[in-house]
Amino acid sequence: MSPPPLVALRGVGVRFANGTEALAGVDLEVGAGEFLSLLGPSGCGKSTLLRLVAGLIRPSSGEVAFPGGARPGGVGFVFQDATLMPWATALANASLPLRLRGVARGEADARAAAALAAVGLSGFERAWPRELSGGMRMRVSIARALVTRPSLLLMDEPFAALDEITRHRLNDDLLRLREESGVTVVFVTHSVFEGVYLSSRVAVMAARPGRVVAVLPIGAPSPRPPGFRTSAEFAALCREAATALEEAMAA
Ligand code: ADP
Repeated sequence: MSPPPLVALRGVGVRFANGTEALAGVDLEVGAGEFLSLLGPSGCGKSTLLRLVAGLIRPSSGEVAFPGGARPGGVGFVFQDATLMPWATALANASLPLRLRGVARGEADARAAAALAAVGLSGFERAWPRELSGGMRMRVSIARALVTRPSLLLMDEPFAALDEITRHRLNDDLLRLREESGVTVVFVTHSVFEGVYLSSRVAVMAARPGRVVAVLPIGAPSPRPPGFRTSAEFAALCREAATALEEAMAA
């Protein structure tokens, strides 16, 4: 018997107070350990869906269930902006969630240093955010999200503001971190290429009202083999996702 999904959205709708129907009739499951991307145009409800899963908002209709038990103890959130505290070092930024939970400074710092090392920032513990590149600031943000060892990592276009080379490197590092930690990831992106490269499944969304119109399994080996980004296999998967997105936008 296959294990129950970590999260199950059943007939979920969200209508905001101003009447905007941000989501309607969303049925979507997130399996434990999977990497699911939400792909769609601006305004189709991707961020709203992420906030529902995080428990930050409640659905107006339908339900968000956690069939395996309670809501996962830890949820990490990463935004497009790294949202670091400018007056605190990389180490202090990464250890913040532990300090807020009352973990003693020594242990919090040791775990934050390990999280920084996992994202490739050994030696930058004492650096200030202003001394770090955009990609490095995002790495600190990911370390901060993972420092509590969450079972679920929610990422809202985390790499959209980065240059393409940095973005590709962070994509590979994120896949490695996912393999190592086993964390389940739900990832919002505008990019067909990024969604296909990272994911085990891509949920294609359409707007007005926001809804999921297709869910594409990405049948490619994990971890991605060397040269995958330039392979015919990757190109074919991207074409499939791009076609689904075009159909979604025409619908
Ligand atoms: P996406 O992340 O795909 O760009 P969002 O989930 O941010 O889309 O928004 C979906 C729709 O809901 C948009 O039309 C947006 O303007 C609207 N919306 C989002 N948050 C609110 C809110 N708090 N109040 C009213 N409308 C909102």
